[in-house]
Amino acid sequence: MISVALDGPAGAGKSTIAREVARRLGFLHVDTGALYRAIGLDALRRGADPANPEEVLPFLEDTRVSLKFTGEGQRIYLRGEDVSEAIRIPQASMAASTVSAIPEVRTFLLELQRELARNHNVIMDGRDIGTVVLPQADVKIFLTADPKERAMRRYKELVAKGSTADYDTVLREVQRRDYNDSHRAAAPLCQAEDAWLCDTTDLTLEGVIQAVVEHIRQKSEGAL
Ligand code: C5P
Repeated sequence: MISVALDGPAGAGKSTIAREVARRLGFLHVDTGALYRAIGLDALRRGADPANPEEVLPFLEDTRVSLKFTGEGQRIYLRGEDVSEAIRIPQASMAASTVSAIPEVRTFLLELQRELARNHNVIMDGRDIGTVVLPQADVKIFLTADPKERAMRRYKELVAKGSTADYDTVLREVQRRDYNDSHRAAAPLCQAEDAWLCDTTDLTLEGVIQAVVEHIRQKSEGAL
């Protein structure tokens, strides 16, 4: 099995790129952020404070998060309910970033992620895939872009979906999540030593996709 770890900060385009690269190579795309979002959403729905382990952890066993892979991509279920759209609201992004700092939450999700990589050729996107989840991944990529550019992409995405977004708020949120993700004690966002750094600030989407596909082909040599 070939595993590709794709890490990087919020809004670098990881999911969009991973989805298309997976399609071109016939790999499974696993969006691990969705798992943290589902737990964050669950905490919000229960009225629990996502920052407080005492309010989050007692419910973890009952959270029952599962993934399904369809021709259209990954769907995520929370106690059997499809929450693939619900987890995208901005409140769920912040709640995900907050609950993801709780070490027990990370441990809880670890085996589910590793199991998928054992059984499929995967491209897995997240924050700690190359460092913690799949330290033996065949290919590691760290995808990044300037924070202002990332905020602009996210802003355009929200506007396209009909949300009444405000650029400065989106930028502040991107910066806050960057700070949270890279300063937490448990599995912080950082580039694995053996990861290839890909800065997408000045690249087109197609340019990034081609560069990533080419890099994976080279790294996995004759295996593809
Ligand atoms: O990638 P996405 O923006 O959907 O992730 C939501 C949040 O989940 C991130 O801000 C991050 O805090 C957390 N996350 C994580 N580890 C991962 C994937 C996501 O901590 N592997």
